[in-house]
Amino acid sequence: MSVKDNLNTIKSELPEGVTLVAVSKTKPNEDILEAYEAGQRIFGENKVQEMVQKWEDLPKDIEWHMIGHLQRNKVKYMAEFVSLIHGVDSPRLLKEINKQAKKHDRIIPCLLQIHIAEEDTKFGLDKTELDELINSEAFKAMENIKIVGLMGMATFIDNKNQVRKEFAHLKSMFDDLTTKLTGITTLSMGMSGDYGIAIEEGSNMVRVGSSIFGARNYS
Ligand SMILES: *Cc1c(COP(=O)(O)O)cnc(C)c1O
Repeated sequence: MSVKDNLNTIKSELPEGVTLVAVSKTKPNEDILEAYEAGQRIFGENKVQEMVQKWEDLPKDIEWHMIGHLQRNKVKYMAEFVSLIHGVDSPRLLKEINKQAKKHDRIIPCLLQIHIAEEDTKFGLDKTELDELINSEAFKAMENIKIVGLMGMATFIDNKNQVRKEFAHLKSMFDDLTTKLTGITTLSMGMSGDYGIAIEEGSNMVRVGSSIFGARNYS
C-alpha cells in the first residue's frame, strides 16, 4: 500500500468532524509530499529542529502541529509558524510559548496535555494541576496563547478496556473544561493503534503516523 492509499483508507473511516493529523516524524519530504498531493495539509512532528527543516523545505500551506514533549528553549525556533502545540504540560512552558508568540505578534493555539495513562513515563498534567493552571492570574494575563482543548495518550497496552477507560476519562475532563473556558473545541486523542476507540470515546482529532507512512526506523 502506498502513502496515498493508506491515507485515503483512513480518511474514509473517519467520521465527519474528526481532524486527521498525519504524523510524519522521521519520514522524508517525499513521503510528506505524497500525502500532500493526496490532499493532506496537517502534519505532526515531535522534534522542533526536524519540523523547522520541513517547514522550510515544503509547501507553505502545510499546517505544522508540534505533538511531542517540548523543551522551553526550543519554542523560539517554531513560534513563527507552528499551527497547534499539542503537548503543553506546564505553566512554565505555556509562559514561554506566550512570550515567543508575542515576539511574532501571534496568538498560538495550544492543547494542554493530560496524564491519563498508567505509565509514569508519559507526560501531562493531572486534574489538580489543570485547575490550578487555568485559575491562575498568570494564565489569565497571557494574551498570545489560546488554549483550545486537551491532548492525551493512553497506556500502550493491548487491553482495550483500559485504553477506553483512559480516553473516557480525558473526554470527561474535556467536557468539564468547556464549562470553564471559552473556545474549547479540540480533543486530541488516538494514534494508529487506538484511534478507533478514541473516536468512539469522543476524540475529534487523531494523530496517525505508522498507519499512513509505515513503521518508523529510528536508526
Ligand atoms: C509518534 C506519535 C503519534 C503517532 O504514532 P503512530 O502509532 O505511528 O500512529 C501520535 N502521537 C504522538 C504524541 C506521537 O509521538
